[in-house]
Amino acid sequence: MAKYTESKCRLCRREGAKLFLKGERCYKSVCPFERRPVAPGQHAGGRRKISEYGQQLREKQKVKRIYGVLEGQFRAYYEKADRMKGITGQNMLSLLERRLDNVVYRMGIAVSRSQARQLVTHGHFTVNGRNVDIASYQVKANDVIAVRENKKDNKYFAALKEVVKNGAMPKWVDFDPETLKGKVLALPQRDDIDAQITEQMIVELYSK
Ligand code: SF4
Repeated sequence: MAKYTESKCRLCRREGAKLFLKGERCYKSVCPFERRPVAPGQHAGGRRKISEYGQQLREKQKVKRIYGVLEGQFRAYYEKADRMKGITGQNMLSLLERRLDNVVYRMGIAVSRSQARQLVTHGHFTVNGRNVDIASYQVKANDVIAVRENKKDNKYFAALKEVVKNGAMPKWVDFDPETLKGKVLALPQRDDIDAQITEQMIVELYSK
């Protein structure tokens, strides 16, 4: 996940949508977007007509920020998706969802994708028994993701049991907080991706 120096909450206001970048705070009334859902800046409240190109650009920026990837990497996902069979936009979202940091987030092991990325890059996980510390690692159906044996006593993972029990998980992943082991049950489909994204706009932008 790339590092943005701008305030995360400011990114939500810029994109005009909740991007859920700050974990638990995003679900509480203290979320700044709930209180002031307008773009940052002097003329934030004013009406501005955005061109079609501008809308496509904003959509791309929104998705990049949700998944925390930079332009080059994002474009590479698009190009790979375009070479795959099926609908390019949906392929692209599926590739983003299959990043290991996103899967750790989806399993409820982390409260945000940035926290998940930190856990992954600090070497807390194995995939099918092998240590993996690459956030962009692409998972496949039936991959088993587990907390490494020597990390299981870590306070963070010990406290995870109640959090995961109470959290909702998408149907394509499963995670058992007792054994600290999870599985990718299937590849994510478009219906599994809850964010409000119009991926076709991104495809149109890149195919110009
Ligand atoms: Fe966005 Fe609200 Fe979360 Fe801040 S707290 S990152 S504004 S959803």
